[in-house]
Amino acid sequence: MNKWVVVFLFFLLQLQIFAEDMNSKIDSLLKKMTLEEKIGQMTQITLDHICDKKGDNKFEVSDKKLAEAVKKYHVGSFLNVAGDPYTVKEWNKIIKKIQSYVLKNERLKIPMIYGIDAIHGANYIVGSTIFPHSIAMAATWNKDLVRKDAEITALEIRAAGIPWNFNPVLGVGRNPVWSRLFETFGEDPYAVSVYGVEYVKGLQGEITEYLAKDRALACMKHYLGYSFPLSGHDRTPAWIPERQLREYFLPPFAEAVKAGCLTVMVNSAHINGIPVHANKYILTDILKKELGFKGFIVTDWADIKNLFKRDHVAKDYKEAVKMAINAGIDMSMVPDDYDFCKYLKELVEEGSVPMERIDDAVRRILYVKMVAGLFENPFFDKKLAKKVGKKEFDEVSLQAAEEAITLLKNEKHILPLKKGSKILVTGPTSNSMARLNGGWSYTWQGDREDLYPEDKFTVYEAIVNTYGKDNVIFSEGCDYDKDINIDETVDKAKDVDVIVACLGEKTYCETVGNIDDLSLPSIQYRLVKELRKLGKPIVGILIEGRPRIIKDIVDDLDAIMMAYLPGNNGGKAIANILSGKVSPSGKLPITYPKYPNDLKCYDVTYSEDREDKLNKYDPQFPFGFGLSYTSFEYSNLKIDKDTLTGTDTLHVYVDIANTGDVIAKEAVLLYLSDEVASIIPSKRRLKGFEKIELKPGEKKRVSFSITKDKLSFIGLDLEPVVEEGFFKITVGNLTKRFYYREGK
Ligand code: BGC
Repeated sequence: MNKWVVVFLFFLLQLQIFAEDMNSKIDSLLKKMTLEEKIGQMTQITLDHICDKKGDNKFEVSDKKLAEAVKKYHVGSFLNVAGDPYTVKEWNKIIKKIQSYVLKNERLKIPMIYGIDAIHGANYIVGSTIFPHSIAMAATWNKDLVRKDAEITALEIRAAGIPWNFNPVLGVGRNPVWSRLFETFGEDPYAVSVYGVEYVKGLQGEITEYLAKDRALACMKHYLGYSFPLSGHDRTPAWIPERQLREYFLPPFAEAVKAGCLTVMVNSAHINGIPVHANKYILTDILKKELGFKGFIVTDWADIKNLFKRDHVAKDYKEAVKMAINAGIDMSMVPDDYDFCKYLKELVEEGSVPMERIDDAVRRILYVKMVAGLFENPFFDKKLAKKVGKKEFDEVSLQAAEEAITLLKNEKHILPLKKGSKILVTGPTSNSMARLNGGWSYTWQGDREDLYPEDKFTVYEAIVNTYGKDNVIFSEGCDYDKDINIDETVDKAKDVDVIVACLGEKTYCETVGNIDDLSLPSIQYRLVKELRKLGKPIVGILIEGRPRIIKDIVDDLDAIMMAYLPGNNGGKAIANILSGKVSPSGKLPITYPKYPNDLKCYDVTYSEDREDKLNKYDPQFPFGFGLSYTSFEYSNLKIDKDTLTGTDTLHVYVDIANTGDVIAKEAVLLYLSDEVASIIPSKRRLKGFEKIELKPGEKKRVSFSITKDKLSFIGLDLEPVVEEGFFKITVGNLTKRFYYREGK
C-alpha cells in the first residue's frame, strides 16, 4: 500500500476515534444531567438581563443576576451587547466573569457559549475592522473577499472572547422593499449559496477536530423564507409554495449545511400562515432529517413568546414553548426572563414534551460546544487582542468597499473627476459615518455618530482629502426627508465645476426600517432638480441598503454610483473611485427597479420578458450591471463538448481583454438558460462568476465548469430534476448552446 494511503487511513481512524470519544463524553454528560440542567443548556439570555445599569449606556455584569441565571436556571448561553460597544479588553472582562462563574458553579463544568451579531465585521467591538454590508460584499463578485471578511471577523470576535457569530444571513433578498435586504447577498440563490459557503468556511475554518482559536462558529439565518415578506415589512407573512421554497430559498442553507455550518437561527416571521418557529416540517423534517444538519437550532429574539403574543397560534407562553420545542427548536433566545425554563420543565414532567426531544436538543448543543473547543479552551487567546483592527485587515475592508461600488451611469465619461475640479458636496448621506454603515454598527440601529472612529472619513471629508480643502464646498441641502438649506446649496453651487450629490437612506435595522414607498423621499428629488437648473454636471452617489427608486432624477444625474452600505472605509473608497485612483468593478447583485410596482427579480420567466415587449424585464438597472473606466472585450466563448451526459463536466472558456487604458477589475458572470422544461423555466439563471484584474491591453482566459446539478430545478414532486434538452450559456455578449442527455 502506498505510504500516503496509509497516512490517510490513519488520519481517518483518528477522526473516528475522536468522534466516538466525543459521543461517549456527550452520553456520559447527558446521563448525569438533571432536567433543570438540560433545560438550562437550551436557554439563552441577553447580557442586559444579567447587568446593572451604571450610567448612560453603561452596564456591568451583576453578581446577583449572574447567580440567578447560572445557579438557579443553569443558563448555558448568553448574547448581545448591553449599551455602548466594548473594547476587546472590556469584552474579555465580561466573558471572563461569566465563564468563570459558570465553570465554578456548574456541577458538570459545561461551559457557556456567547453569541453576537457580527454582521459586517466585529461591529460591536471598539477598534475592530468594519466591512461593507453583505449586499455590498455580494456586489464585489469576489469570493476571496467574502472569505477574508469572515476570517477577520472570526479572529476579532474570538479576541474579544466570543466564539459564535449570528451570521451569515442566507435569506435570498428577493423583495427590495424589505428593511433587511442589505444583510443579504442579493437576489440570486446561486450567488447567495456561493457566498454563504465562503463565509461559513472563512468563519469556521476547516474543522478537523476543534475549531481553531481564531475561528468562530457560524449561525446561518434566518431559516427559512424570511427574506420574502409579501408587504416588504419586516416580520410579516410570506406566501411561498413549497416548490419555490425549495427552488429559491432552501439552496443556500443546504449548501451551508454541507459546508459544515454548525448553528442556525430561525425565521422570525411566518410562511404560508405558519410561524417557522412552530413548523416541525421545516425545522425537523427538512433541516435535521433531510439535510442532515448536525448542529443546533436557536430561535430568533423572543420568538417562542411571539407564538402567542404576536401570532396568536398558542393560547399562552406554555403552549408556545410546547409547540416550538416539539417542532425542533433546540435553544431559546428567550432573552430576558426565566419562564421558558419553568414551562419547559412542567411540559416534560406532564409528558407533553418528550424527554427524547430534550436529549436531542442538549446533545446537539453539547456537540457544538465540544467542537468549538469550549471544554478545553473556555476563554480566549490573549495573543489575538493585538491583531484586532490591524492595518492589513483595514486594507481588505477598503478593497471590499472599492470593489463593491457599482457605477451605473457615466454620461460623456464625466468620471473620473479631474484633479483640481471645484466640487460641491451635498445630500443627506454626504457627511455621515452612520449612513455609510447603516444598522448593526456599534449599536443595533447604527445611528450614533459619536461612536464612529475618528480616523475614518465621510464622503465629504474623503473628497476634501483627495481634492484639497480649497476645491471642495459642503452644503447639506436636505436631510433624508426634509429640507435643510436647498436654496442656499444651489447658491453655493454656482461657482463649482461639478456637484456630488450623496443621496439615499438614514440608518435602520429590522422593523424600524419598514417603508411604505420604495421611492427616495421627494425632498431628495427636489435637491437634485433645483441643482440641475444650474446646468452643471451632477454625480449622484446612492448610499442605501436597498435600491430606492430614482426614476424621476435619473436623467438629471450625469453619473450614478451605487455605494450600498460600504462601511467605515466607504468615504475613502468613493473618493478613490471619483478620482480614478481605482476603476469601479462592482456589479449589481440585485435588480435596481424603475417602478414601485415592478419589483421583478432578474430571473424572470419568458412571459415576463416578452420579445414583443408587452411584458418586459424593465428595471432602472438590471442585475449584474456595472460600468468601468475601461472597456472589456469578451471573445472566444468555447465549450469542450456539445453534449453533456450524466455525471460528466462541461468546461466553458472565455477570453476577456482590457481594451481601454486603465488597469481594472472585471466580474465575469455566466448564465444558463434552459430552453424547454416541464416547469416554466427562467429566461436566465446565474451559474458561475469570477473576478479578474486586467492591465490595459491584457487578455485573460476565464473558465467555468457545468455539471448536471447546475441544470436542475425543483419538479412537481418537489425533487430536483434535470431534463434532456438544449441549454444556452451566456457570458457577456456571447452565447453557446449545448445538449444535456441522461446516461453515463
Ligand atoms: C434579529 C437577529 C439577531 C438577533 C440577536 C434579532 O432581532 O432578527 O438577526 O441575530 O436579534 O441580536
